[in-house]
Amino acid sequence: MAKKANKGHCVLCGRPEDEVPFLLEGVDGKVCPDCVALAMNMLRENELLKETKAQPFGSPELDLKALPKPQDIKEHLDHYVVGQDEAKRYLSVAVYNHYKRLLQHQEPHDEVEIEKSNILLLGPTGTGKTLLAKTIARLLQVPFTIVDATVLTQAGYVGEDIESLLTRLLQVADYDVAAAERGIVFIDEIDKIARKGDNPSITRDVSGEGVQQGLLKLLEGSIVNVPPQGGRKHPDQPMIQVNTQHILFICAGAFDGIERKIAHRLNTRIVGYNSPGAQHAHLKEEELLRYVDARDLKSYGLIPEIIGRLPIITHLNPLTRETLRMILTEPRNALTRQYTRMLAMDGIALHYTEDALDAIVEKTMEQKLGARGLRAIMEQVMMEAMYRLPSEQVTEFTIDRAYVEARLAESQGVIQA
Ligand code: ADP
Repeated sequence: MAKKANKGHCVLCGRPEDEVPFLLEGVDGKVCPDCVALAMNMLRENELLKETKAQPFGSPELDLKALPKPQDIKEHLDHYVVGQDEAKRYLSVAVYNHYKRLLQHQEPHDEVEIEKSNILLLGPTGTGKTLLAKTIARLLQVPFTIVDATVLTQAGYVGEDIESLLTRLLQVADYDVAAAERGIVFIDEIDKIARKGDNPSITRDVSGEGVQQGLLKLLEGSIVNVPPQGGRKHPDQPMIQVNTQHILFICAGAFDGIERKIAHRLNTRIVGYNSPGAQHAHLKEEELLRYVDARDLKSYGLIPEIIGRLPIITHLNPLTRETLRMILTEPRNALTRQYTRMLAMDGIALHYTEDALDAIVEKTMEQKLGARGLRAIMEQVMMEAMYRLPSEQVTEFTIDRAYVEARLAESQGVIQA
């Protein structure tokens, strides 16, 4: 019929018949099973969202049966974040337990008080720490905010007061204090407020230890005066009192160089044990992170009191070539899928050869920015095609290694010029 050119293609993603297991035939076109699965997942998420909306943040009643269980949370994370299974499990359990604590809080006569377990996520930059937090936020039934520790300074110095962390939480909870008091705060770049040097210092360290002391107050649970509009406290700005006792804090940081401290500690121990099988001696730097514990964090410059308030420590793995490749193609909103979708809107079926993907990953590995580098590289590769193709009469376009290398060489030329 009229759509002859599209006959053997999925009308949604544009992939041809030979790239998909089969095509479902509709009245006016065909659809591949991947797009059907995507639609089903979107429906499921929509259902979840509806449930979330039916349970406003401020509602005192949470129904444990209706809440996503740890495995549901992990499954949701799996759709968007590649690998990092351990961190996903820890986060899923922590969020679920947070709900349980809130439920218990509704029954004041229970003698066993479940204490909160704040979490610390360690991992190199661009490995998915923030992505995990953002993905979990979409599923949550309590207010959630992501804040950056680098902007914080000790009260009285240039920067933001610690209490401003809670301003954001109040804002997402629509200034419903009771709801904010049940929320979750994700503090990114916590390693940037580490004390400089191992020994407590009497010199001023306005962005290090002072901030940690302030943060400790929040983690421990106390009643804090929060400026509703953020910024500095002005005597004329009425404060809102927020109790942080039930707020869950998830902290994250790259902790660059902590591997050396871990290695040092492990070697010391091996020597101390007088063990001939120094099984840690051959560990690669990137494998060391899994052995991290409170002592390494202390020698990195976190104060022991803060470490004590972050009882769950988990790590994210550096991204290997294989993971980067999966990130490029597999998550729901994987970069290659995004470009395919964009060009499909112009009626162009976009394909990547296997070695084109390899070339993109190789270039990204060189940059050592984790998956963070993928987008910039993809933009450099795709720019020319996105500029040129929509005005040309093409229905298919294939990106191969030669094309990738030519585009990257070109854009580096531009940068050097
Ligand atoms: P960081 O660990 O520094 O917080 P981010 O979570 O901000 O890193 O990751 C930067 C970008 O890299 C994300 O937007 C995402 O697109 C991609 N990314 C990083 N890690 C993963 C992963 N494990 N799975 C899928 N995408 C990832």
